[in-house]
Amino acid sequence: MTNIDNIKVTKNHTLKQALELLDQSAKSILLMVDAAGVLMRTITDGDIRRQLLSGKSLDDSLEDLEKSNPVVVGLDATSDEILALMDQRNINQIPVVDGDNKPVELHLRQNLQPRIQLSIPHMGEYERQFVEEAFATNWIAPLGPNVDGFEKELADYVGSKHAAALSSGTAAIHLALRLLDVGSGDIVLCSSFTFVASANPILYQGATPVFIDSDQETWNMSPVALEKALKDCCESGTKPKAIIVVHLYGQSADMDSIMALSKKYDVPVVEDAAESLGALYKGKHTGTFGKFGVFSFNGNKIITTSGGGMLISDDGELIDKARFLSTQARDPAPYYEHTEIGYNYRMSNILAGIGRGQLKVLDSRVEARREVFDRYRSGLSRFECLDWSPQPETDYSNCWLSVVSLNPEKTEVSPESLIQALAKSNIEARHVWKPMHMQPLFKGCRYYTEEETSFCDYLFDTAVCLPSASNMTQVQNDMVISEIEKILD
Ligand SMILES: *Cc1c(COP(=O)(O)O)cnc(C)c1O
Repeated sequence: MTNIDNIKVTKNHTLKQALELLDQSAKSILLMVDAAGVLMRTITDGDIRRQLLSGKSLDDSLEDLEKSNPVVVGLDATSDEILALMDQRNINQIPVVDGDNKPVELHLRQNLQPRIQLSIPHMGEYERQFVEEAFATNWIAPLGPNVDGFEKELADYVGSKHAAALSSGTAAIHLALRLLDVGSGDIVLCSSFTFVASANPILYQGATPVFIDSDQETWNMSPVALEKALKDCCESGTKPKAIIVVHLYGQSADMDSIMALSKKYDVPVVEDAAESLGALYKGKHTGTFGKFGVFSFNGNKIITTSGGGMLISDDGELIDKARFLSTQARDPAPYYEHTEIGYNYRMSNILAGIGRGQLKVLDSRVEARREVFDRYRSGLSRFECLDWSPQPETDYSNCWLSVVSLNPEKTEVSPESLIQALAKSNIEARHVWKPMHMQPLFKGCRYYTEEETSFCDYLFDTAVCLPSASNMTQVQNDMVISEIEKILD
């Protein structure tokens, strides 16, 4: 914001004085106030030119300029709001007024930085074609060629045999549990370090979650802690019905170890790959190791349909059953007959069209996010207090979000203070997901750690997600880096 003392005038100023002030301040605008200091109008070069053309002389006062209602904003307006208003009114300056309508500051377009956001949609050039095709053929209602196409194309992309397009990733996890016959009183093991949508479906089915800590190598489910839980549960006669493994922030979990345990204890795996579409573990796509894999196309994910999800499996019968359950479980009868509980979980043909377009640009989105992460890591490499999320050599992360942990033994800067300092520069950073075993919702649930102390508690206390959108420019990437440098120095 800019100081305004040198651009305030009253009606007693002359046209000449006004021109001189415009010239000196170089702001292209003056603020005319009344005796009480209340804003009456703004004045530009053009206003003065029109006064002169109407016969006024340079020594005449500004008193004939009429009061108008200038565009103003309050003190709490955000950059994004102000920029939107400037675009809408086609202006480059907006005064800030206090509660009494007295000007206190001036916003200039060139000083306003659009907010650098954590993760936002990034459309390609094909989405519209698919959606328009749906309109042209009136395939608006649920199902249609885009749904079939999206399912097949996604399954081919990740190397799975079958896929069902659904209304959300959460719906996909829910159906996976339903299909594994998870019910009241059953136990489901689940990564603790995740978003709540991984675990909510366990509760939908009336089952009991048992949470598993992360390991230091992947920040995802610790096989050591998982085995402790499997052993305990099996020994006490309550073999878990499923293991929900999350590939958080685009990094895969240690799938060799986890699949070996799944086999040893005969408990099926559901992979929550909502954040890891496009990521590989030893050359194979995340989501294709377990009995089921789940993807999300929510607005913040690496590709989006504005909202949606996909359930994949190599078992075609189970995916057929998922399609059946997701369309209200209607029995094959000439009328509406139902024997099982169903859901309205199917993806619409319009949204699947967006998905087909997004799938075409997925590889470039993964590359862009990986570049963002690399730029942060190399740009900030001199700071020893920063521990970047691990990327084992055998894996290929999609770097959905760039995550860094601030070692409290090497810096005083906490996630909270970093997030707030970046917010002042209009940069959005966020805490990492708060682990499930720490959530009030899951109070009292059992939790297994690898060591004495909980590693994901440490991550929650120390780690931050940085802006990571694939449409973030290098200039913006560098701005975030230089702001972090300032804060850490
Ligand atoms: C986004 C997300 C989900 C849920 O996906 P929706 O499509 O939003 O329902 C599940 N798990 C994780 C880890 C997620 O990030």
